[in-house]
Amino acid sequence: MYADLLINLAFVISFLSITGQLFRNQPMNTTYKGQFLGGVLFGLLGITLIFFSIKVTDTTIMDLRNFAVIIAILYGGWVSGVTAGIMIIIARIFINGVNISSITAVITIILLVMVCSYISRLNITIVKKFIYSIASNIIIVFSAFTFLVKDTEKLMTVLTYYGAISLFGGVIMFYISEYVARSNENYRFLKESAERDFLTGLNNVRQFDAIWNTHVQNAIDREERLSILLIDIDHFKHINDTYGHPVGDIVLKELGKVLIQSTRSFDTVSRNGGEEFSIILPDCPNSQARDIAERVRKAVEKHTFNVSSSQSITITVSIGVATYPDTDRDINSLIEQADEYLYKAKRTGRNKVCSAD
Ligand code: GH3
Ligand code: MG
Ligand code: MG
Repeated sequence: MYADLLINLAFVISFLSITGQLFRNQPMNTTYKGQFLGGVLFGLLGITLIFFSIKVTDTTIMDLRNFAVIIAILYGGWVSGVTAGIMIIIARIFINGVNISSITAVITIILLVMVCSYISRLNITIVKKFIYSIASNIIIVFSAFTFLVKDTEKLMTVLTYYGAISLFGGVIMFYISEYVARSNENYRFLKESAERDFLTGLNNVRQFDAIWNTHVQNAIDREERLSILLIDIDHFKHINDTYGHPVGDIVLKELGKVLIQSTRSFDTVSRNGGEEFSIILPDCPNSQARDIAERVRKAVEKHTFNVSSSQSITITVSIGVATYPDTDRDINSLIEQADEYLYKAKRTGRNKVCSAD
């Protein structure tokens, strides 16, 4: 029996690792689609576990299928649980037909889904949710076996084995699920930190580079235009010196929002460092890029930055614009040219847009 249990566990562990890969970028409980898909996968796991059941006596089989339902609910919510539960119920009836044993199994699953869905909504730690779910499962399953198995000696064997399976198998399943969930969380956190600027939530310079290279390749392949705006806050040091660094941070954050609001959905806004931002404008000729830059400049100039409940300030930006191939036939020096014209804007009075003709 213990060999069977190990085979079951090996199967469950591989399943949980593969499922974890599918939900690496987004946890299964974030959308109804994810919850349903998760439910289907755990339903399939439950059904497979029925096929790999451990034979305890001539007439009774037991397996970890209830744990597939418990894990589906704890990580996906009730939608996952109901989906997995319905699939397991249908499979159970197909496999054994309608008899007192399969009807009891169906009632067991329905009760389990209801109780665990309730537990999953409680405001307690995941470990407690798991312990309560396992305890409820043991109570429900023990009641079912007590109802089904009349021979006391046989019943004792069945209860002992199920208790052992619940503790050993259940704990390992929970441990692996938590391990997969935590490593996915770490993966998402690291991916986010590698791509996003912590302060503004915009792309950071590394992500800017990656996106820029893709656009450069696209512009060459499709013979399209490509424009870039480099934006630098005017006298930002003065804002830090006058109001303090934290106020400077609020301004940077708010400016990020203004830039997003004054550009098109397919433009890419990044914070390239310090108080320097950029906007990539794909398939955009120089005249239009200048118009957009001018729109951005005016939007910033008009915006009041509420830096505290009693204080608001205004800022201005200087913008350098360059366009391939309109202002520069060499796409590899486009950023340098934009930078050159940003400094021309700074030198000739600030709060203005400059570009080569
Ligand atoms: P210019 O008009 O010539 O651009 O003048 P400036 O003062 O904006 O330019 P400068 O390069 O002299 O100063 C940039 C300042 O930006 C200095 C630095 O303290 C500030 N800064 C850079 N990163 C941050 C940040 O994350 N938060 C805050 N609050 N300030 C920052
Ligand atoms: Mg600067
Ligand atoms: Mg500046």
